[in-house]
Amino acid sequence: MCGIIGYVGDKDAVPVIIDGLKKLEYRGYDSAGIAVYGKNGFDIVKQKGRLVVLEERLSSLMRENKPLSGHLGIGHTRWATHGEPSDINSHPHTGSKNRIAVVHNGIIENYKQIKERLENRGVTFVSQTDSEVIAQLAEHYYSGDIIDTVIKVSNALEGSYALGVMCIDEPDLLVAIKKDNPLIIGKSNHGNFIASDVPAVLKHTNQVYYLNDREVAVLHEKDIQFFNTDREPLQKKAETITWSMDSAEKDGYPHFMLKEIMEQPKVLRDTIQSAVTDGENRKVLDNIDIIRFDKIMITACGSAYNAGVVAKYVFEKLCRISVEVELASEFRYKDAVINEKTLVILVSQSGETADTIAAMREAKSKSAPTLAIVNVVGSAIAKEADYCIFTAAGPEIAVATTKAFSAQLILLYILAIRFARRLGKIQPEEEQKQIEEIKSLPDKVSEILDRIGSIQMYASTCIGYKSIFFIGRNIDYAIALEGSLKLKEISYIHSEAYAGGELKHGTISLVEENTLVVALSNYYYLYNKIMSNAEQVISRGAKVLLIGNCPKVDQESGKFYHIVLPQVSEIFSPSLSVIALQLFSYYVAANKGLDIDKPRNLAKSVTVE
Ligand code: GLU
Repeated sequence: MCGIIGYVGDKDAVPVIIDGLKKLEYRGYDSAGIAVYGKNGFDIVKQKGRLVVLEERLSSLMRENKPLSGHLGIGHTRWATHGEPSDINSHPHTGSKNRIAVVHNGIIENYKQIKERLENRGVTFVSQTDSEVIAQLAEHYYSGDIIDTVIKVSNALEGSYALGVMCIDEPDLLVAIKKDNPLIIGKSNHGNFIASDVPAVLKHTNQVYYLNDREVAVLHEKDIQFFNTDREPLQKKAETITWSMDSAEKDGYPHFMLKEIMEQPKVLRDTIQSAVTDGENRKVLDNIDIIRFDKIMITACGSAYNAGVVAKYVFEKLCRISVEVELASEFRYKDAVINEKTLVILVSQSGETADTIAAMREAKSKSAPTLAIVNVVGSAIAKEADYCIFTAAGPEIAVATTKAFSAQLILLYILAIRFARRLGKIQPEEEQKQIEEIKSLPDKVSEILDRIGSIQMYASTCIGYKSIFFIGRNIDYAIALEGSLKLKEISYIHSEAYAGGELKHGTISLVEENTLVVALSNYYYLYNKIMSNAEQVISRGAKVLLIGNCPKVDQESGKFYHIVLPQVSEIFSPSLSVIALQLFSYYVAANKGLDIDKPRNLAKSVTVE
């Protein structure tokens, strides 16, 4: 999940790389490091901690008159998988002879075998990482041709990797290769880049190449060449990125998360437009022949999985087709009962989630057609899935997803409506009515955002809770899962989501004085049921926060606080509930003074297993 960047060009590589790493820090922030080709070979500085620690170290080197500088360099921001976060385990890594320096994103699964082999030949390892074997093996193979060496190393590695490589004999050359982890190549008029993600290079260029698995990129200041692993040249076409740097800046908000929450009306409008009116998504949707399928399987991780749980309720209600939702990490190993009559829907913001990629490949191996919902054009899932529709969320920087989740929901609703119509479960008038209601959602989201103050005020009273439970029934339960996940991700308060009816089967034993229960209530016919659950926990000392559009409750008793949501059909209510839930989590975390955009131990694109 690390972020890597590399630059070769006429500018000083150090500020270029540090600036790029800032845009990649969402991918990991256990440590950061940089290597440049300086006057006397490699100069490497790497430090445990956030990027700012590395920046301070670079500034003090400057003050000591030992500044780092060069026109070729690589940088890394780490989310540790093998070896604790420490200076020594930070990247870049070099071989023992200091001839080859490497930054790596991914996991080398056969690192122990390679390490043992090299140790038997006298190589001494200094770190606990899997990544060091790459640099050591490269030095072991190297006999004057760094491109051949990188190919040879890649042939020996099992697992996933995106690599940036510098060689001591090549002061103007950067080599890159990837497998199962993202890597883009940026082309600018002052030099060329490698990076894990587009925002890292956007300040310099909007021309990028997406590297495919096991393609080699060879970068000089003025040219870029591509090869396959037989060293045959490849022709690749640069793509133009249409979004701008502004979308990767905070825009005056204290955190990206708040900015991204506030962007949701526009994101929803853009996403609806592309799927309903005339956009690319519409064309893809029109091409999927749902009549061929007797089952839908949705697979994803984290919040995207929660979007899938919501979608199960919507699809089953509208389409009367059987839907299963599986965590991608489970699906990939469970020998799922799927075949060519199962439509497998993959949901992933980054399109690079390792478990979801594996789930997609598993589905394909069983001849099940795959439909992906992703945010990042050019990502692995976008390229490999049989069909792909895109959320128009723009770059999402905060680790905890908000706008991408909301956009995923919208596409899933639209998919369900289109399928229902195709299956003859709803008539054209009903389809139109549903679409009109979807189109009204952005305004209703704005309505909630306009009342942000009351949620903020309530959240400020909630920072002392040790545990917060979320309950709901039916689709309210599905969105409760996301509310709970959001809260624990950024506020570090223990939290669980339960189906209201399940409370009495165990969980209620955890409810005591000073427990907060957030109850979702958007189902009129289940209103009394969820209110009974609320009364049950209140009798045991809990406080209840009610979120939903069901009848307003008497707050005078002091037992309830009610965030009232705009009226909407039950099946679309998650799109409104989630806004209140996001804001609640955000303000609880903000009141605790936490690092909301980069919560501890997490990273955004989970490109490792
Ligand atoms: N496995 C490498 C490490 O622990 C890279 C981790 C990653 O890409 O997440 O340093």
